[in-house]
Amino acid sequence: MGKKTLRNKNRIGNFLLSFQWLFWISHSRPIFMVIFAFILVIKSWALESLPNENLNDQNYQILFNKIEKMRQTLAQSAQSSGPCSGKVSENCSFLEICKNFSGSEKEAYLYQDNKGHQLPNYPLLSTVSQAEACLQKPFLKAPIQDPFLYPEQFINAGKAGGKKELKRNRNKLEKEKRRAQEIFKDAQEKTISMLHKKGNPSNLGQIEALIARVKSVRLESAELGDGEVTLSAAGCEMPNAFYQRESDKVVLCPQVLNLPEGTLFQILSHELGHSIDPCTLAFSYSKNKMLGYTQNTSEFFFGANEKYEISLPAFSPQSLPIKNVLSCLESNKEMDLEVPSQSVLIQNIKKEMASDPENPYLEARVEQVSKNYNQYKYCSAISGQENIQEAFADWVSAEALNEKVSNQVNASQNKKVTFEFQLFMAGIDCENIKKASSEWASDLKHDQKNKCIDIKSTLADNSEAAKRTHPKSQDRVDQILLTKPENRKALGCLQSQTAAHGKNCEL
Ligand SMILES: [Zn+2]
Repeated sequence: MGKKTLRNKNRIGNFLLSFQWLFWISHSRPIFMVIFAFILVIKSWALESLPNENLNDQNYQILFNKIEKMRQTLAQSAQSSGPCSGKVSENCSFLEICKNFSGSEKEAYLYQDNKGHQLPNYPLLSTVSQAEACLQKPFLKAPIQDPFLYPEQFINAGKAGGKKELKRNRNKLEKEKRRAQEIFKDAQEKTISMLHKKGNPSNLGQIEALIARVKSVRLESAELGDGEVTLSAAGCEMPNAFYQRESDKVVLCPQVLNLPEGTLFQILSHELGHSIDPCTLAFSYSKNKMLGYTQNTSEFFFGANEKYEISLPAFSPQSLPIKNVLSCLESNKEMDLEVPSQSVLIQNIKKEMASDPENPYLEARVEQVSKNYNQYKYCSAISGQENIQEAFADWVSAEALNEKVSNQVNASQNKKVTFEFQLFMAGIDCENIKKASSEWASDLKHDQKNKCIDIKSTLADNSEAAKRTHPKSQDRVDQILLTKPENRKALGCLQSQTAAHGKNCEL
């Protein structure tokens, strides 16, 4: 490689690096980043079915037939799915909740409310999509007619099954967008009234600052545009929702709009929680007539004190209004949330540099950690982990639910909402559900002349990656959600906590 190319390559590398920093400080981890394989649920629809030279290959035929059978199983279970309700024994725990799904692990939907809002079986659907992609998409139609799983059915009449169906799908999308706005408003109100109740004469100013931040957040539904390109640009190449730090917005992707009410309440209140998480609070915000609230990042990048009018002031880690919650969460050794000290971080990066001396990313990281640790230590760009931000956002959502169910007198409605609240986590992380999808994946494991990916190991890698970005689902439920007394009551749990549960952290 000539000198010139090398230099150009470095320039591009530096550009990507600076972009990467922006990403890390401005985006909170999307809910679905937890399992990258889900990308394929959506990604695969961009791939048109290709003329396949392998059709006469015996191995190909075996795999083709197996997938066909799985698609039929999915289609049949989707057709016969109906409303169901969750049951949890008095000894409430994540593991108890998982028992709800025993017997339905190989169905397309794991839960449905009485209005048809559903929790899809993402691991299973993802396995089949991966397998189809691996065979170069030999099937013309999606296994299930559900635009929330296969958004091409919102865009393309052929995929939707006709013009009438396309129109129906689009109307449904608009209806669900309006419902999401209502649930968002509810989550915002409950978060604010929860914060109000935690106010006392000594912390009033701080509580007001938190409330102002929660109030400033807007919900945006990602646009479909012409399909995959627009969706990917919006961060919606997979079912997703995230808090966009730079613009103070929660973005919801179309694929999550048909989730049950309680599930959306959990997702939206968690994302709202990121508007006051310890990384977001380290930045100030200005209000702009055109753009709304925008994050001020120049101190982080340049250490400069640019002059702008501040609407929402920044907090240093020492003055954080949420520091009691953070230290309480960090003291829970089950969850591994502690942020390493500055010197430990630098030592670790230097160790990495010793084995990878040419890596410009590591050099930039040492610089960032030296310069920015004091103010931004809770941001993953500095600490290298996001678990504390995520656990804190879960704390906010658990408190918002606690507020919601303590105001409601209808016990069965409370139970329904609370059961639905944890569904998303259970649906991707209950061992029995994961086992079902990995059984299908092993059954599909086939040597396609090394053309096919190893579906099973991809799933395993993904759950490894998930551990680095979010606390384990079991901990999110047992150590945070079920420590709140009203949530326990709503779900019908014994009022005293068991050893499985963590401390109820307070502001
Ligand atoms: Zn999050």
